[in-house]
Amino acid sequence: MNLDLKDQVVLDDYFSYLKAADGVYRILADRQYCNTELIVGTEKAAVIDCGYGFGNIASAVRQLTDKPIVLFNTHCHIDHIGGNAQFGVPVHMGSEDIGPARATDTAFFRERAWDGRVRSLGPASVRGMDREEFLHRGPGELVPCEEGESFNLGGYTLEVYSVPGHSRGGRAFFLREAGILYTGDAVFACTLCFGRGSASRVEYIRGLKKLLKLPFTAALSGHYIEPFDHRFIAHAVYTAEHADFETGIPLDNPIDPDARVCFAPDEWPSEEYLDRIRHGDHGLDNKVWALVMSSPE
Ligand SMILES: [Zn+2]
Repeated sequence: MNLDLKDQVVLDDYFSYLKAADGVYRILADRQYCNTELIVGTEKAAVIDCGYGFGNIASAVRQLTDKPIVLFNTHCHIDHIGGNAQFGVPVHMGSEDIGPARATDTAFFRERAWDGRVRSLGPASVRGMDREEFLHRGPGELVPCEEGESFNLGGYTLEVYSVPGHSRGGRAFFLREAGILYTGDAVFACTLCFGRGSASRVEYIRGLKKLLKLPFTAALSGHYIEPFDHRFIAHAVYTAEHADFETGIPLDNPIDPDARVCFAPDEWPSEEYLDRIRHGDHGLDNKVWALVMSSPE
């Protein structure tokens, strides 16, 4: 699979897309922030994650398919669920994440997202949007989605796997016929597993090892464009197994004051990178191997 930003096709002021396989699309929000995945079968279309909710993701999807939509979230964070309600259909989400999604998708957090966007990108970045509607939209009708379920789209089948860690109810989706694994935020070189909604390191490692057994040819994550392979997930397992909490660098963030960026002893990054973290620039990217945790476990 070759995904290149220069191949993106514009859908509207807010969204563009890349084609990953026949009937399989990655819809990119402006700023390439959080990916929305679309899989079009002969009977139904699956949408995985809906971004922050700026623009209208449902209208963007409707430009690519008129099939009935089955909607999924990889996890409960606002940058993945903000556009859920624009579809007007139930949303399948890991059961452990449903409570946290309802608790955090509030006007308070949405206002912060709106104001932050306008501050950094200017008022034109919310063109055509109704602020009050956005603030009070909520996460949509959430229904539990468990490991072992599978959804037949016609020609494509989406299988559900549990990957606790980044959140307790994280789910990965395997599109067996295309060999594509959707991991959400469970797999980055620098995965965040901190705060009240996270699972333990042990559970996280167990979930990743389960994904490694799947015969995928490309894995796609929530925030980066490039596909990755088994070696990448194996490296994430190595990092999670060896990350040393004691020597971790405190991460300046409002969610969890105890969070630290932790590295395997033989994989410390450059001083320049460490300096960025120490000075409050999170600087987390998909090339430095770390696990962000708030306890050694
Ligand atoms: Zn997340």
